[in-house]
Amino acid sequence: MVETTKSVDIEVSDASALIKTAIREKRYLERHGEGCPHCGPKADIDGGPLTVDSGECSQLITCMECAESWYDIYKLTGIEEQAT
Ligand SMILES: [Zn+2]
Repeated sequence: MVETTKSVDIEVSDASALIKTAIREKRYLERHGEGCPHCGPKADIDGGPLTVDSGECSQLITCMECAESWYDIYKLTGIEEQAT
């Protein structure tokens, strides 16, 4: 008889929690900050004011679906001359 795969409750270790966090972040970055890293790209999010500090900028984001919050981090990558 073929053994079937069934779901098993796995105790979440620190290592697997870190991996899950890294995967969530990677997917969120791949879709350029669309939606929520926790509940998906369709989630409605709310952004706070931008905080700028030496070439970096952060913004507190809150998900309206799951109530998780996180900081989006932006880095200065260039300038665009203003048309005169
Ligand atoms: Zn969410």
